[in-house]
Parts: sequence; C-alpha cells; structure tokens
Amino acid sequence: MRNTLKLTAMALMALLAAPLWLGAQSAEPEEVKAYRGSVYVEQQSTYTPSFRIDGKNTRVRNVILLIGDGMGQGAVNAGMYANGGSLTLTNLRTIGYVRTQSADNFTTDSAASGTAYATGVKTNNGYLGKNPDKENVTNIPEYLAPLGYACGVLSTDDLNGATPAAFFAHQAARGEKEAIWADLPASSLTFASAGTQAVFESMPLATQEAIRRRFSLVYDPADPAVASSERLVYLPKSVNLDRGDYLPATTELAIDYLSKRSKKGFFLMVEGARIDKCEHSNDFPGTVKEMLDFDKAIEAAVRFAEKDGHTLVIISADHETGGTILSRANPEEGFAAGVFASKGHTPMMVPLFAYGPRSGEFGCVQENSDVANKILQIFGVKK
Ligand SMILES: [Zn+2]
Repeated sequence: MRNTLKLTAMALMALLAAPLWLGAQSAEPEEVKAYRGSVYVEQQSTYTPSFRIDGKNTRVRNVILLIGDGMGQGAVNAGMYANGGSLTLTNLRTIGYVRTQSADNFTTDSAASGTAYATGVKTNNGYLGKNPDKENVTNIPEYLAPLGYACGVLSTDDLNGATPAAFFAHQAARGEKEAIWADLPASSLTFASAGTQAVFESMPLATQEAIRRRFSLVYDPADPAVASSERLVYLPKSVNLDRGDYLPATTELAIDYLSKRSKKGFFLMVEGARIDKCEHSNDFPGTVKEMLDFDKAIEAAVRFAEKDGHTLVIISADHETGGTILSRANPEEGFAAGVFASKGHTPMMVPLFAYGPRSGEFGCVQENSDVANKILQIFGVKK
C-alpha cells in the first residue's frame, strides 16, 4: 500500500515536471546531437615517480609545460580507463583546474588560450602574442632567453599551429601561416619541432632562407647537425597518425638538446595537438589513442624531472573540445565508449596536473594566464 502511494506520488511529480522540462527544451533552439564511438586499446605501461621532490620549495631550473589541446575531463577519463585505470598523468598528486575564457569570448580558441599560457596576458580569439589592442606582448621565451635560459617548443600540429606559434609569433590573425613562419627567425627559441617538412618548403624562399640562417634545419632526428648545432628546427615528414613515436621520442630529444645548450636551465612547451583534432571530428577512438600518445610524452618529462630534481612539470589544456564524455568502460579489457555533445570547443574548466619543486602553487582553480605568470615568477622574472 505504502509503495503504491509512493509510486503514485512520483508519477504525479513527473507529470507536473514534464511541461517545465518540455518548455526548457523548446526554448533551446539548438538540438544537441550525441555522437558516439568506442575503442579497444593496447594498454601501455605508466610511470609513478617517487614524489621525493614534489612540492618542495627548492630551486627550479627547468620548466616543462605540456599542453593537451582540447584535453578536458572527458579525454583524461577516457584515456585513463581504457588504459586499465591509470596514466602517468593521473599517477601525479598535485591537481588543479584552469579557467580558459579569452578576453572577448567566453569560449576560447587555441590562439587566445595559447597566448595566455605563453605570455600571462588574456587576449581575443584569433590573436597570437598580441593583446586585445593588437600590441605585441612578451612571451616566456622572450623573457627567459636574455637571462640565459634555452627555450623550445614541440607539437604534433604544424609549427604555425596556434599553440606552438603563441610561443614565438606576434600576429593578430592565427590563419596567417606565412607571417607566422616569418616570425620564427626573430624569436627567442633555441629548439622547435613540429609539422612539417612540406609545410616549410611551401613557404616563400626568403622565409626559408631566414630560418636556415638562424637555425640548423633537419628532417631526421639522427642528423649529425642535432648534436653540433647551436639552435635547431627539426621538421618531421608527418605529425599525423603515421608519425610513430614522434611525440614522446622528440620530447626526450628536446629535453636533452635544451639541457646541453644552457647551464642556467630551460623552458620547453610540448603540445599533444591531435586530441583536439579528433574531438572536433567526434572521433572517440582517435581521442583515446592521442591521449595515450600524449601520456608517453608526459612520462618522458616526469622521468627527467625525477632524475634531475630541479625540474617542474605542468600538464594542462588550452580548452575542452567536443563536450567529450566517457559513457562506458571496461578497464580490464582496454575498452572505452564515449559520447560527444559538440563539434567545437566548450568553456568547461580543464584539469591541471603538476610534478616537481613548487608544484603545489598550481593545485588550485586558476586562469590560464595565471599559469604563465606563476612560471615567470618561479623563474624570477619581474614583469
Ligand atoms: Zn586548442
């Protein structure tokens, strides 16, 4: 009897709530379509550091900032559960959140968020290394190089992609490929690696020559110029799915290269660019695989930090993409299934993980621009 009453009450409540719910639906002009996908992955090992140096208030010589483009909670969850429940990323203990709004838009693009991470200044969507008044703003390499630090960028996007470009270019239109490449010779970078050989060769000859005058340019990481050069641009044939272990292997190469170019220390930005690209096309298997590849680059950075003792590693994202949700998983079998709510970026906060001395300063809710300003402060830069 009591159960029947309870059920009747629930049915009544549902009936009363229904018109409200329908009303809310009709007020929403856009229909949200859910795009689904699932994947079985080959699981990979993860690394857990000792935490001996984590959060210590000791000297930071090097900072490695890894940006998973579009890496929101959904991508982290999908990668972690598909990989048996762990990633090197989620083995870390210092965790925060990052708010990503740009100066002119609640939902940022990669250019504005990249600029915030590179300069500590929020700007308009589409702008690279410029403030909303289109004036140049100083990026981390430009602050650090005059102090004797070696700086580098590495990405699975083309070098003119918004995230790597934010660390060396100053352009008010992120689509100006040629102008962005032309900014490279005057930049403060010691090392750059991203796509691709073909993109470089499609640039005007004057730009190619200016880049070759400033940097040793190689297409192969085994090139002897890697060891002998003062400044290096390494352009692989592909940064796409056929790139093999380019991202983790080049992370190791970049760390080694920059460590040998400065006694003072280095700053390296590593971007896992294709998490975002997969989410834009609502490719769930691709999202998971790119997440796992990015985690191998994270492992290379954390292993170096553990050995070095004076390296701070920060991992976050420039924004969330796809409204990516993990809907089902079987960690034992390497299975994950997901749903996307969008084909674009969302304004959701993104997770941040950190390891190494002074990591604790990032264990809070912060703006993307705050991350850059804290890095500069840790390096002792007065803005
Ligand atoms: Zn992005």
